[in-house]
Amino acid sequence: MNENYIKIESKADISNIAPIRLCITTFFSNLDIHIDELMDVKTALSEAITNAIDHAYDTDNIKNKIQVEASIKDNEIMNIIVKDFGKGIEDISLAMTPAYTTKPENEHAGMGFTIMESFMDEVIVDSKINEGTSILLTKR
Ligand code: ATP
Ligand code: MG
Repeated sequence: MNENYIKIESKADISNIAPIRLCITTFFSNLDIHIDELMDVKTALSEAITNAIDHAYDTDNIKNKIQVEASIKDNEIMNIIVKDFGKGIEDISLAMTPAYTTKPENEHAGMGFTIMESFMDEVIVDSKINEGTSILLTKR
């Protein structure tokens, strides 16, 4: 099996969305992948990172961190894991319901998970209260 990966750790801060996205999309651009598909991955990735930054931590702190790991298997399976170490999600299936948001006042439409699911082949959410959340995004 042919496998490659890249891993990034950063402070959970809005200013880090663009550099992380650039790094991960550049990593995948080595593949023989259509630009539209790369844009889909970029969109889903942005939603997952934005969620970790917007929802995982209640106060701004240098210790608030996110980890993003991207991997390629056999030149055809793209996996991305976006991980935070924040508050966790109480009810995952409720959180993934279209238009469900716990922050309606901050112009959130509750569409992040719905977008991830429509742009990727698989979205697997794992979360533990007060330990954090990890989102696995897969595209073949
Ligand atoms: P939008 O993505 O449209 O701006 P949203 O972020 O509220 O709105 P989703 O991305 O679908 O919508 O997420 C739904 C809800 O799941 C969030 O409102 C939040 O309560 C919870 N959630 C999502 N990601 C996390 C996370 N990493 N940690 C804790 N809670 C989360
Ligand atoms: Mg969101």
